Amino acid sequence: MNIEHLTQRVLQGGRITPEEALQLALSGDKAGLYEAAHRITVAMASDTFDMCSIINAKSGRCGEDCKWCAQSAHYRTDADTYGLVDADECLRHARHNERQGVSRFSIVTSGRKPARKELEKICQTAAHLRRHSSIRLCASLGLLDEQEMKALYQSGIVRYHCNLETGASYFPSLCSTHTQEEKLQTLQAARRVGMEICSGGIIGMGESMEQRIELAFTLRRLQVSSIPINLLSPIPGTPLEGQAPLSEEEVLTTIALFRFINPTAYLRFAGGRSRLGKECLKKALYVGINSAIVGDLLTTLGSKVEEDKRLVTECGYRLDDTLFDEEHLWHPYTSTTRPLPVYKVKRAQGATIELENGQVLVEGMSSWWCAVHGYNHPVLNRAAQEQLEKMSHVMFGGLTHEPAIELARLLLPLVPPSMQKIFYADSGSVAVEVALKMAVQYWQAQSMATGEERLARKQNFVTIHNGYHGDTWNAMSVCDPVTGMHTLFGSALPIRYFAPQPRSRFDGEWDEHDMDALRAIVEQHHGELAALILEPIVQGAGGMWFYHPRYLQEAARLCREYNILMIYDEIATGFGRTGKLFAWEHAGVEPDIMCIGKAMTGGYMTMSAVLASNRIADTISNNAPGVFMHGPTFMGNPLACAVSCASIRLLTSPEYDWQGKVRRIEQQLRAELAPARKLSQVADVRVLGAIGVVETKEPVDMARMQRRFVEEGIWIRPFGKLVYIMPPFIIDPGQLTKLTTGLLKVVSES
Ligand SMILES: *Cc1c(COP(=O)(O)O)cnc(C)c1O
Repeated sequence: MNIEHLTQRVLQGGRITPEEALQLALSGDKAGLYEAAHRITVAMASDTFDMCSIINAKSGRCGEDCKWCAQSAHYRTDADTYGLVDADECLRHARHNERQGVSRFSIVTSGRKPARKELEKICQTAAHLRRHSSIRLCASLGLLDEQEMKALYQSGIVRYHCNLETGASYFPSLCSTHTQEEKLQTLQAARRVGMEICSGGIIGMGESMEQRIELAFTLRRLQVSSIPINLLSPIPGTPLEGQAPLSEEEVLTTIALFRFINPTAYLRFAGGRSRLGKECLKKALYVGINSAIVGDLLTTLGSKVEEDKRLVTECGYRLDDTLFDEEHLWHPYTSTTRPLPVYKVKRAQGATIELENGQVLVEGMSSWWCAVHGYNHPVLNRAAQEQLEKMSHVMFGGLTHEPAIELARLLLPLVPPSMQKIFYADSGSVAVEVALKMAVQYWQAQSMATGEERLARKQNFVTIHNGYHGDTWNAMSVCDPVTGMHTLFGSALPIRYFAPQPRSRFDGEWDEHDMDALRAIVEQHHGELAALILEPIVQGAGGMWFYHPRYLQEAARLCREYNILMIYDEIATGFGRTGKLFAWEHAGVEPDIMCIGKAMTGGYMTMSAVLASNRIADTISNNAPGVFMHGPTFMGNPLACAVSCASIRLLTSPEYDWQGKVRRIEQQLRAELAPARKLSQVADVRVLGAIGVVETKEPVDMARMQRRFVEEGIWIRPFGKLVYIMPPFIIDPGQLTKLTTGLLKVVSES
């Protein structure tokens, strides 16, 4: 038997057998075993130390005869005996732990299971805790069924704890009042209702090493991600009172085996660790312990939180500094109860993001299309600082300022020539709202101007599938109905007309049937259609799809023929991303209204603009009410305007050569992403401008992939079947290669 051989197998995602585990246990090379387990821990388990806490919410008088337990009524111990602790007392403990950065709080009761009334009270307590604190709630209440689990889950308890205690073959010698099978059923019931499960055992109860291995394998089969390991504290009065303590070597060997068998789990020090000396504790953390119950522990004395924190950081673990974030901050499209991990950024520079832990990631997302010049750019910094000295904001109602005027001067030559009016807005979504309102108001005005009443009925919109136009109400209504989750909002959401996504690829043949569905909708419904809204050429967040320019030309023709306005949403595509300054240039047909945003400020702050032709502006302004009905508080924010000016001047300066930069990125993406086509996981690879997309056959596991990308030192955020990069224009070839290599590597593992 070769420790190194088994270690390599585990590190590569393989498994060891119970026989091999036993051989490891019997190995004379203990130092080698500990070191091997350490390597598995570092490579595969979390380096963030997870601290949890518990409250013994009901103690003693338990009818079960577990031989190790101080609370069993079968033995005479001097454990406390009390009924259910009240909700405020629980809250006091929970908040105390929360303040100290402890991530979980578990309500633990003695007894086979709580009575119905007690369970109701526990649910009320959980709800009370959720109302006044955000610490994650766990419970350990004995043998419950699915109905009872459901009640707990609904009241806010997200993880259920039930120890299997020991190997299945040894359990009957320790307890005669229930079986391990009943414990397994309890855990499965918890999992069925949606709870996470936590389960481990006690070592040092006279079991053999084989029986410990048996337990570790049962836990692996259950895919338990949190495994408490208790060292028996022999309680005077119980049958195990005379049990001799395990040697340090036995404890460490057991931890090492648990790590080999459950490489990614949290191995959690629970009861009895105060019996170990500090040096032994450190060794245990080295070998594989990466979580612990802290604070006062059930009936035996635990250790103090601050001391624990010092110890675990000394041993190379991180304490979760994003815990407060997890408990209180809602991130985009995430669950608050099961958030995906977030990485804390310390600073960002050029095409890199530096994390709190010092790790530097190459930026592949430009912070969602925005940071085209990279981060911390001296030119943009100076513009912000200089403007800050003058004014960061004044209202735009009745006042104006140089940055707003200057920005318009810079924008006009860059956008379609007929775009003569500019309305500044706060964000992309708001720009889309403004554009839609503008279209409706235009037809109202046009109806008045011509006396044609039917024009006033033109209030609805048509768009194409897989579009994305923002998250506010009307913007959402024109997003793809499936990925935009229209069903969720039901009849509260206005109903729009959707044509299929054009299938003719940007670089492929034009198929005239691509127009059929849109034409049919327009022919039938033009009387109620104010505008067609779409993202020209590149559909962004709704599908990362590049379609044929001919589609825009034909759509424009259709719109003119049937008196429908065209709105281009260039919020993602603008400012050079697709190889043209704005994507409409690929087709050469102008819209009536156009939205821009995202990269406008170089990613420094939020700002967008809606551009319109004089025809639109004049018609709205020359008819009642004679004004366009919109005006955000932060409209034309001087700071954002000043940075936008700096960003646009930088982008368009000859030395910057944005076209050269984007062309080089495009060529490199084409060359370096091409091998992805050969991967069995990949359905399509497409590149346009500084956008590279790898579409997979199956939806990706976002949580796993995100973690793997970070491990590879790159920042890429996939969604659905799309793994894509749109790097800052200033990225250097070496950095870009790191992105493409990492992308291919991680996709090929999926
Ligand atoms: C991002 C985006 C929006 C929404 O912009 P926000 O600033 O997030 O509100 C709208 N349209 C498109 C095409 C986008 O990519």
